Amino acid sequence: MVPDERMPRNYMEKLVRETLMRLLKDKEGICKCEKCISDMMAYALNRLPPRYVTTDRGYIFSKLREIEVQTQVDVLEAVLEAIDVVSKNPKHSC
Ligand SMILES: [Zn+2]
Repeated sequence: MVPDERMPRNYMEKLVRETLMRLLKDKEGICKCEKCISDMMAYALNRLPPRYVTTDRGYIFSKLREIEVQTQVDVLEAVLEAIDVVSKNPKHSC
């Protein structure tokens, strides 16, 4: 399915995913399966305000570079907490 570029997107999702992947790369001994990653994303996203953007392709990416420092700090904190909570309570036995 090709996503409609004009549909509103929550760019927080992209930001959380990128931050999560960057942090997990350096973490040893943490399950990085699809289930845990989506749990971590859900956990972090529930703690962050959604930021919906509409408009053409490319806009989201340029917008991401302009994100306020405070938002980046909030995302980092939420993602770190998500990794901590989910890795201690995985919903499956690894
Ligand atoms: Zn897992």
